Amino acid sequence: MAERHDNLIDGEWVKGSEYAPNLNPSDLSDVVGDYARATAGEAQAAIAAARDAFHGWSRSTPQQRFEILDAAGSRILAEKERLGTLLSREEGKTLPEGIGEAARAGQVFKFFAGEALRLGGEVIPSVRPGVGVEITREGVGVVGLITPWNFPIAIPAWKIAPALAYGNTVVFKPADLVPGCAHAIAEILDDAGIPAGVFNLVMGRGSVVGEAMVGSPDVDAISFTGSVPTGRRIALACAESGKKVQMEMGGKNPLVVLDDADLDTAVSCALNGAFFSTGQRCTASSRLIVTEKIHDRFVEVMTDKVKTLKVDNALKPHTEIGPVVDQSQLDQDMRYIALAREEGCEVIGGERLNRDAEGFYLSPALLLGADNAMRTSREEIFGPVASVIKVSGYDEALTVANDTEFGLSSGICTASLKHASDFKRNSQAGMVMVNLPTAGVDYHVPFGGRKGSSYGPREQGAYAREFYTTVKTAYTLA
Ligand code: NAP
Repeated sequence: MAERHDNLIDGEWVKGSEYAPNLNPSDLSDVVGDYARATAGEAQAAIAAARDAFHGWSRSTPQQRFEILDAAGSRILAEKERLGTLLSREEGKTLPEGIGEAARAGQVFKFFAGEALRLGGEVIPSVRPGVGVEITREGVGVVGLITPWNFPIAIPAWKIAPALAYGNTVVFKPADLVPGCAHAIAEILDDAGIPAGVFNLVMGRGSVVGEAMVGSPDVDAISFTGSVPTGRRIALACAESGKKVQMEMGGKNPLVVLDDADLDTAVSCALNGAFFSTGQRCTASSRLIVTEKIHDRFVEVMTDKVKTLKVDNALKPHTEIGPVVDQSQLDQDMRYIALAREEGCEVIGGERLNRDAEGFYLSPALLLGADNAMRTSREEIFGPVASVIKVSGYDEALTVANDTEFGLSSGICTASLKHASDFKRNSQAGMVMVNLPTAGVDYHVPFGGRKGSSYGPREQGAYAREFYTTVKTAYTLA
């Protein structure tokens, strides 16, 4: 029997009434472990514990918060190979991607350890004589964190670390598909001395644990990352109960390639952005918008490269693309690839693959001859699938890039300063990349989008304090 992993509630590791196997998508015979699935009652217990712990934690010193977060960050960095291997095993990212993501989580914890010390305020003269005004920030209260499966250690880290740094207590629900990294973070925080109830892990289903969190009057704020339909439902419920809410959702990110682009740079940005991490990134370049003079050369090189990308077990040394995360995502990818053919695209790749072990292997798919009205160009597929859309020049490229309900990340490959500057100004996205892939961001600066991709304040960097704190204005008559 696989090792059992329990939830962390009020400082205790609590056995589950139910456990679910965590399967390796590269090899379905490999069970990463059995993980507890919390009931709604256990979620309530975690919320109550976080509520009780808030008084003490919100009054803890910045030094205490710094030490715990810094210790957790150091441990994650020291164990990035172990954690990265666990990540690759449960989610299917290649090992270098898994280790890189684990390292990033460690850096995030260390950054927010510093932020705990840097939280200042303002002293401002009043418009009234003899009165002083102080503006300070305080933790919001009990924060519910709900995360997706595609970045199982980085996204939890960039929610947990600022929540704790700014004095909030946490109830954390990871995606049901990837409890392993979440449990590992909980163990590390527990070992680092997080007081009972300040951080609670409740693994389980969104429909049970997530709904209990969203519906609880004792949760003050919800930070969610995931799909648009789930996010919208949660935002509505939070609005009804007056909870603070932050949503990071889907994308249909454009990468524009102009005639004057360096072809190698453009191909490398497109391959990385569209297909690395199996295309399962909210920032993936799923629309490659290419101007007409470079289009055929770009397609030729991309077609050759796509055919040589090595799709295999995520833990094998030379694998460039791991498996799709599960059967349901694989089915969705295959449905969209079939739809692309019906819509008139020529499909390069996009075939189900067999490897040594049974897993969810799919070759990357390039959809040639696409236009921006096709469903495959408008809906988030969330797999290794990218459309190539030919346009006449820069103006049309910008119009097509912005013609989407999403607005997370966008990119342009060009040698023209004029076009790069114009694109940075006029692209309707939260993050804009010039001669870089649309995916791949720093941990110390804001992350987030606009339009249908995001709702509420930004995550990461010092901007994270907008969500995780509430402002107080105090007046004193001297
Ligand atoms: P999802 O299905 O929306 O799930 C996200 C989380 O919400 C999971 O933990 C899920 O639990 C939970 N959930 C489901 N139903 C719920 C409910 N009724 N109440 C409360 N919680 C509920 O998304 P996903 O498939 O895991 O992730 C893929 C999506 O995430 C893509 O759309 C991608 O673009 C987006 N994403 C966005 C960003 C960003 O920063 N913009 C980053 C990464 C991913 P279960 O585990 O039980 O399903």
